[in-house]
Formats: sequence, C-alpha cells, structure tokens
Amino acid sequence: MSTLDQDLDALAQPITAHGLELTDARQARVGDLTVRRLLPLRLRRSVGAWCFVDHYGPMSVDGVTGMAVPPHPHIGLQTVTWLLAGNVLHRDSLGSEQMIRPGQLNLMTSGRGIAHAEESPVDHDPQLHGVQLWVALPEASRQTEPAFEHHAQLPFHEDDGLMITVFMGSLAGSQSPAATFSRLVGAELSARREVSTRLALDPGFEHVIFVATGAAEVAGTELRLGQLLYVPAGHEDVPLAAPAGTTMLLLGGVPLGERLLMWWNFVARTPEEIQAAVADWDAGRLGEVGGYTGAPLKAPPLRPDLLISKP
Ligand code: MN
Repeated sequence: MSTLDQDLDALAQPITAHGLELTDARQARVGDLTVRRLLPLRLRRSVGAWCFVDHYGPMSVDGVTGMAVPPHPHIGLQTVTWLLAGNVLHRDSLGSEQMIRPGQLNLMTSGRGIAHAEESPVDHDPQLHGVQLWVALPEASRQTEPAFEHHAQLPFHEDDGLMITVFMGSLAGSQSPAATFSRLVGAELSARREVSTRLALDPGFEHVIFVATGAAEVAGTELRLGQLLYVPAGHEDVPLAAPAGTTMLLLGGVPLGERLLMWWNFVARTPEEIQAAVADWDAGRLGEVGGYTGAPLKAPPLRPDLLISKP
C-alpha cells in the first residue's frame, strides 16, 4: 500500500452539505487489486491521526492470487489491517507471522522503521473484503520501537440494532486494547436490522464515516459505497439510518495539528527524512521479511519537487 502526493492533484472538491464534507474515493492499484482510496485528501491530509484509508472488495479471489503486497518499509505510522471477509497473512521484519480474519485486528507500529508483507495465503478463502488504514505517529512518538500486535477479541456493544466493534481507541465506553499514541477511535458499525439512531461521538474528535457494504443516511446525507463523509469536531452525536446488512467504518480523533509529509510508505515531516528513509530501505537498513516468495518492493524514483509539505 502506498501513497504518492501527485495522486492527490486529480481530486475533486468535496461536496458540502449540512456542514459536512462528502468526497468520492479515487481508484488506486495495490498489486493486482483495485482499491478505493478515501484518504489522504488534497485538502485534508489526516482525520485525527488517521492519514490513509484504502477500502478493497468485496471481491472474489477464488482461484487467483488475491492480495500480494511484497516486503516494503514504513516509518512514522501504524498500519491497521481490518477485514470484513476472507483472510490475509502478515509477516514482518520482527519475525511476526500472523493470519488475520474478520473481527480481528493486526496492528503494526513502525516507529522509526519496519518492513512487512501482506498476502492472501495459498489456500485462501474465496472472498476478500477489508480496509488498510494508517495512523500517523505524533511527533513525540515517531521514533518509538517497532512493534506488532494481533487482537483476536475486541470490545463491542449494541446500540439500537447497530453492532459497534471498537478496534482502535474508544467509543461510548468500549475501549480497544490496541496500542495508540493519540486520542482516537476506529470502529466497525454493523446494522443487524434496519437502524435509525443517533450515533454518540466524542465532540473533541473530528470523524469520517464510510460504507463498506450497503448504504446509509448520515446527518441527512446519503452515503454510498466509495464515498467518505467528514464530520468536524464539535458534534456530540450524528443521526444515522441504514437498512439491515449495512456495514460502516467510523474513524476519528483529536485533530493532529502536525503537517505530515507522506511519500510512498513513509510518513515524515521533512524531505530530508524521506530521502534518508529511501536510502535506508535501498541499503537494507529497515529490516528483512522472511518467508515471502518474491522480491521486495523498490521505492519509486524520488521527485524532490513533490516533497513539499501541504497543510
Ligand atoms: Mn504496508
């Protein structure tokens, strides 16, 4: 998974309704998969500390390779892998090897540097559906030790037919055990029946909501697959209606207040840091991933003119 700043230039302006912003995903390629890239946005690089959102599937991977992301490095972020269907195998340069399934969390904290690979295992499930998310590490935590954690059990509660599973941070009294470095929330919202409720939010957080399956109406705005709705801080709740079977993701947090410089798989602050990370990866200093068949990814050619931090 990667991001290049030039991708952002093609983005349309968000549609604003009811004080919220609705943005369409853009298409991106991750190996053989086409994904919906919902963050970063040209005008909004992060929501809380969330700075990258890819949504892929649901798709059939029956008889095909499926996900195949070769070894690649990260700095300055946490990768959050959350599945709605299928299974994916994670391997990293710490020696972690972990299969993940729906309802579980794979969380990798890159800190100052790590490498990993993610792939559909050889005998994978026929369906694949999930999200790949990044959380930017705040300045004070960017150089932390790299770490990997897997959580098979996560807290959930039901609100008026809406099953809420909190995989990062906290929401309405449910607290994920996953390591976080800023105040935030990541949750799956699943309509067990037709739902019409007010979803409680932390008014100190800004949020985004998107649909993974089905459709919803949030604060009077129709929300379809491939759209991202931004809710600014200051909302104590938001009206939410959805038919049975709809699944949504809610991401939010305290606005980061830091200018992020994102290049390829790196989240940094200065062009020099990005250049150093590319040199470190080229020289094999960001770790080696064992067990993956195939060559590691190479960083794309560095375009210094694109290494400009935008708000
Ligand atoms: Mn990655």
